[in-house]
Amino acid sequence: MEKKETIIIGGGLVGSLLSVYLTRRGYRVKIYERRSDMRKQDMVAGRSINLALSDRGIKALEEVGLMDDIRKICIPMHGRYMHNADGSTAYQPYGKEGQFINSVSRGELNCRLMDLAEQNGAKIIFNQKCESIDWERNEVIFQDMANFQPSTFNFKLLFGSDGAYSAARLTHQLQHNRFQYSQYYIDFGYKELTIPAGENGTFLLEKNALHIWPRGNYMMIALPNMDGSFTCTLFFPFEGDPSFESLDTKEKVTSFFKETFTDAVALMPTLEEDFFNNPTASLVTVKCFPWIRDDKFALIGDAAHAMVPFFGQGMNCGFEDCSVLHALIEKHEDNWADILPEYQAVRKPDGDAICDLALHNFVEMRDKVADPKFLLQKKIEAAFSKKHPYKWIPLYSQVTFSPQIRYSDALVNGQKQEAIMQQIMAIPDIENKWQDDIVEKMILEKLLG
Ligand SMILES: Cc1cc2nc3c(=O)[nH]c(=O)nc-3n(C[C@H](O)[C@H](O)[C@H](O)COP(=O)(O)OP(=O)(O)OC[C@H]3O[C@@H](n4cnc5c(N)ncnc54)[C@H](O)[C@@H]3O)c2cc1C
Repeated sequence: MEKKETIIIGGGLVGSLLSVYLTRRGYRVKIYERRSDMRKQDMVAGRSINLALSDRGIKALEEVGLMDDIRKICIPMHGRYMHNADGSTAYQPYGKEGQFINSVSRGELNCRLMDLAEQNGAKIIFNQKCESIDWERNEVIFQDMANFQPSTFNFKLLFGSDGAYSAARLTHQLQHNRFQYSQYYIDFGYKELTIPAGENGTFLLEKNALHIWPRGNYMMIALPNMDGSFTCTLFFPFEGDPSFESLDTKEKVTSFFKETFTDAVALMPTLEEDFFNNPTASLVTVKCFPWIRDDKFALIGDAAHAMVPFFGQGMNCGFEDCSVLHALIEKHEDNWADILPEYQAVRKPDGDAICDLALHNFVEMRDKVADPKFLLQKKIEAAFSKKHPYKWIPLYSQVTFSPQIRYSDALVNGQKQEAIMQQIMAIPDIENKWQDDIVEKMILEKLLG
């Protein structure tokens, strides 16, 4: 089949990676990106925003041969390091020995992906904001962000990878009879704060862990950066007490942090400036359908499925979209009339599933990880899984370390496991009985039942 000339809207993480898959298969690709070229600017001075990269994303990066390079800018995080309200700390490994997630700078990753996109022949045109798409004429209209001049380009194959607030999705939606769309904001926002490096770039907290300060209704997390600093993210209610609204003076912020995040605040010399200078951002889940239009258009990445960040999967899922799409291009030998419907049929249920799992994980991270009963449940699951690795893979591991398991299957498996564990946790005196053979036998029976 003809390798159609392709336009990608949005040169973020997913759009850049998608272009690499396509150019390597012989497609001529142009990426139109709203921002200017971030490689020519200083990375946002003093701030580094990082993401957790895990096995699904890694699989895609390996497929395009980029992972060896990216590994150099990754910091492995082997588990959660909990900082409890009473000053105690606890460590919970993420998976089996040798399993870990990776802290990586969003900006650096995007820059490297854009370099790779260009090395493979994609052309990236910056400062071009998608305004609308004419589906009859197969034209996409951009506005130049410098001089506000519009430009119109004809397309044969078009991808919308322009993120959670996708303009491509909007123009697709507005010209569609039965477009399904839902957008759900949680009542919590987030703000990035900083723990700088110690002397000579030393890490002032355990380097190879994701730090969590779970506080019931809200939480702070911190991920390590290559320079020894940590980027903290406070997930906090917009309104109420306490909230972003109620902490409205420097004094209130300092006193609240001293009381609530006691061990962290001592490491945050710029807390007050960061709190009032850095934006408070909202967290949205977006689901929509259809993702495609005929044989000529598809949404991909956050444009198709934006999720809250509590499973660390948004980017990983978007990278997996690219990998699945690529496998379908091979399977259908570049016949887009077959590729796009199958891409949508396969990925839509998985996108929905990980959006739901991510929302659910917020409660687990901010509240349950500090609950002794929940920690016991996880311990029982881990012990059972160690003994019966083929019968029980913990939900976190299915999502994070098992790219061979679809998100939609992980969701169903996880619900089944949770129902079993609720019954096990209801056993009187489970705290002292959990290692008895009878408990193991019960789990085995319930798995078969
Ligand atoms: C606080 C937070 C923490 C997160 N942590 C993680 C994590 O640990 N692990 C993980 O896997 N995911 C995480 N995510 C999710 C991850 O950031 C997204 O899933 C990922 O960035 C999606 O990539 P994308 O390329 O689809 O969209 P984006 O990264 O948003 O890129 C979209 C691109 O399109 C461009 N664009 C937008 N509109 C237009 C337009 N009209 N015309 C042209 N270009 C346009 C933008 O400038 C941008 O470059 C997190 C998200 C948040 C908010």
